[in-house]
Formats: sequence, structure tokens, C-alpha cells
Amino acid sequence: MQSEPTSSAEHVLASTVIRNIGQLVTIAQQPLPGASGPLQILHNVALAVHNGTIVWIGRDEDAGSLFQPATDMPGDSITLVDAQGAVVTPGFVDSHTHLIFAGERANEFHLRRAGASYGELLKQGLGILTTVRATREASAETLTALALARLDSMASYGTTTVEVKTGYGLDMATEEACLRIISGLNAIEENTGSQLQKMRIVPTFLGAHLLPPEYQGRRDEYLDLVVNMMLPAFADRARFCDVFCEQEAFSLEESRRILTRAKELGYRLKIHADQLSPSGGARLAAELEATSADHLDYASDEDLIAMREAGVVATLLPGCSYTLRTSYPGARRLLDLGLYVALATDFNPGTSYCENMQMILGLAMANMGMTLEEALTATTINGARALGLQDHIGSIEVGKLCELAFWSIQDYQQIGYHFGVNLVSSVLVQN
Ligand SMILES: [Zn+2]
Repeated sequence: MQSEPTSSAEHVLASTVIRNIGQLVTIAQQPLPGASGPLQILHNVALAVHNGTIVWIGRDEDAGSLFQPATDMPGDSITLVDAQGAVVTPGFVDSHTHLIFAGERANEFHLRRAGASYGELLKQGLGILTTVRATREASAETLTALALARLDSMASYGTTTVEVKTGYGLDMATEEACLRIISGLNAIEENTGSQLQKMRIVPTFLGAHLLPPEYQGRRDEYLDLVVNMMLPAFADRARFCDVFCEQEAFSLEESRRILTRAKELGYRLKIHADQLSPSGGARLAAELEATSADHLDYASDEDLIAMREAGVVATLLPGCSYTLRTSYPGARRLLDLGLYVALATDFNPGTSYCENMQMILGLAMANMGMTLEEALTATTINGARALGLQDHIGSIEVGKLCELAFWSIQDYQQIGYHFGVNLVSSVLVQN
């Protein structure tokens, strides 16, 4: 076992102890004694947490009287959780979402089913612009309430960390308001009294999502606004800067200008790359050592190899292929080239209106040739990698932060097999 006590008399300080875990799917990045398979699974174990960090993993039978509360303060006791012999995994890390928006676009979804393309809708001022209008009109209270409801839904399916992008404001005031809301979500989650204790939120600035309508014919002025005003103003609020590098959005040169300035200002970088056409985004991600490049449907082998050499995580978003009824991204090619592959929802009202990482994992197994082990890795530790958080979350190991999903199943191999229902019973995030 990973962390045997040095003597049976010694006590371990703990705030929470989880007993009776039937299968602990650790996805540990270091070999664990007694663990089996590529996911490093342990059976019949307990786990202890102190100050939000996993401090002990061991045999359940050893956990009986090993722990003591952190202080002698009256009322300070250890919270005991009984996993009832079920499966526990790391919580899902959803590393790509557009969670902050108002309105929805069901009518456009059905127009597309009737034959209209994504590009045609954009040309008619629909698509992203529909959501930009609704978001600009919404109050901060409305946007916050919508975001919290979506986070609740995500957590109910097992997600514990969520990256959240702006990009439906596209003006100084609305982008700033959205970033302010995103930064405030963690604090609000603690006080809502919902089933959630907390989720980890990672803010991303995506001012270069699309050219706002009022800047038609004045592209350079909008780029100047993003580069000279927004990026410096938001550097303290957003951890990442992202760009939609695509024919209909921002060119390779425009994307390079924005991301280069963002990097100088201390942002980590993400890029929507090669989704609808070969945009050069994957190559740019390698050149600028972005943390991740996302979509990659049209990326060439050379560009993918450059990404691998630069340590860029490849994030695949099969919810888009499902919604747009296009080919699924070639996960096998990326895995065979040796890239780190992450999976995320791309939660947004146009091309992937889905909060559920179990669905994304299932799509990847059904349509992209990924094994369950690869898909679980892609939705946990590699999602963490896509946020630069792999040393802190994404696997269950002593020293890592406590972000767990409790499943209502006895064997993890039910995941992806038993489909169309929610197999997660709860999540636990402790700071
Ligand atoms: Zn996206």
C-alpha cells in the first residue's frame, strides 16, 4: 500500500476518512504497491484527507483507529464517509467549456438538422452572435444563476474541476463582467447549500472568439482592443488566454499576435485549432508552447508531432462531432503519435450543449476507438494536464488534492458499457 503508517501506535491527522472503497481507480502516475492494471486500481481500501490533501491510502482494515482530528477544539471531529464497497475514481476534469452565456439555440440546432451549415448560420449573424446578443443583455445575477445550475449538473455527472471561458461578451464591459462572475463561482459554490461542496474553476479569457458585429470591416481595431486593453486588464483574473483560430473567426497571424502578447503578460495559452479546416493552429500551439490545443480535426501529422515535442496536450471534443454530425476526431492517430490526449465537453449552446463527461467518455469509446482505460485517463489526469494542474489533481495519490467521484457501480468496467444513465452518485472536493 502507498502510505503505511510507520508504527501502529502512530496517529494520522485527518479531517475526512473514506472507508469501504471497493475499487479505487487511482490513475496514479507512479507505480503503487498492490495496484493492478494501467489505471493502478486498489481493492478494499480507505483514504484519508487533511487540509484538502490526500494524506493516506491503505487497506480498509487498517483504517479503524488510525486517525485523529486535526485539533483538540471541541466539535472538531473526523468526517467519516462510507463508500459502501463501490467504485471511486478521480473527479472528471472538464478542461474546455464555454459555460458563461445566456439564451439557447435550439432553433439553430434544428435548422442545421434541416441542412444549414455552421458557417452559413454564422454568415446570417446567427451562431455565436446569437449568444453574444443574449449574454450582453443578461444581468450579472442571471448569468451567475445560469452558471451555477450548469455547474450543479456537471457535478452530478462526476465533474470536479471545470475550465470556464469568456467569449460571449466581446466588449470590454461584458468580458470583464463574465470574468468577474467566473472568479466568484468558487466562493458562491461554498455557500449555496446545494449537494455540491465545491468545484474547482479555472478561468480563461476568450476575447478572440469571433469578431463582434459592431467591428465588421474594422478587424484591426478589435484586435487592438483585445491586445492593448483587454489582455493587460484581465491578466490577474484569467489563468489562460484562448483564441478561436479558424477561417470564420481569427486568422493564424491574428491568433499569433494575440497569443504572443498574452504569453508576455503571463497567461498560459490554449487554442481552438484546426476544427473546421486546416487553420495552422496546432503548429502555432507548438511554436508558442501552449498548454493545450483543442479540436484538431484537421491537424497534420507534422503539426501533431511538433505539438508532442513542445509538450502541448491534445484536447478532443467529440460532443461537437455528435451535434454537427461530422467525423469524430482521430484519437487513435494522436495516441499512436504519443501525444497526451484529453477529452472535454466543449459545453456551449451551439455545438455541444452537454454537461455530462460520462457521455463524452462514451462517445470517445464508441466512435473514436479509445479504450475505457484511455478514455478515463483522458477525462481525469490528462484533463488536469490540459490545465497545467497535473501535479495537483486528476489522480488519487498521497499529496494530491481531494477531488473524487463516487460511483453507484461495483466494477469500473461498467463505465461506457452501461450507457444513457448517470452512474455517478456524488462528488467530493475538499480544499
Ligand atoms: Zn470551444
